[in-house]
Amino acid sequence: MAAKSKRECGDCTACCEVMIVPELQKPAHQKCVYADNGCSMYEHRPPTCRDWDCLWIKGKFGNKERPDKTRLVSWIMPPSQSAQWGHPVVAMREIKEGSSVVPAGDRAIKKLTNGGASVIVIRRDTGRVVYPARGFKDEMKRRFDHQKVDYLMKGGRFYLSKEYCQKIWPVDYATKDNLKELIQIS
Ligand code: SF4
Ligand code: SF4
Repeated sequence: MAAKSKRECGDCTACCEVMIVPELQKPAHQKCVYADNGCSMYEHRPPTCRDWDCLWIKGKFGNKERPDKTRLVSWIMPPSQSAQWGHPVVAMREIKEGSSVVPAGDRAIKKLTNGGASVIVIRRDTGRVVYPARGFKDEMKRRFDHQKVDYLMKGGRFYLSKEYCQKIWPVDYATKDNLKELIQIS
């Protein structure tokens, strides 16, 4: 999906496989029909693709940590969320269940949290895990409690079950058939 930058996507097509593109009624984890050795409608790709801001393309992580290798696609959450939490918030979508907990994923997350960002991992099949930025754990717990977020805390992380996430972020679990309807509702 990327525009020109210092880094090139090469043969990675990870975002075109895992990201949601409402304009095309493309749900998460379903390869885009226009993804064919790059984007076959690049000049006319929809706004979601034009606005896509891949963290790896922006220069985060090592050269060898391209999303198709780490099986994690990452982007910065909107400024409103960073303003709310008082620091940058990164979202990561697992391409494969568990890619965030293998050493490469773990390293990438630690790099971000140590650098002052919180990380929201959207697991492939099992809900979300929120990794607070260094020094933000207690404050995050206080806020989650206040907002009545249904979490399980383990090892300084906040685990949100799939059932809970389905209720709060149904778009993540949408199919081609109900994506449009869900986006209009939310
Ligand atoms: S995930 Fe990033 S590197 Fe991979 S195709 Fe998308 S923009 Fe390019
Ligand atoms: S339209 Fe192009 S850039 Fe957008 S998801 Fe499909 S292949 Fe990727």
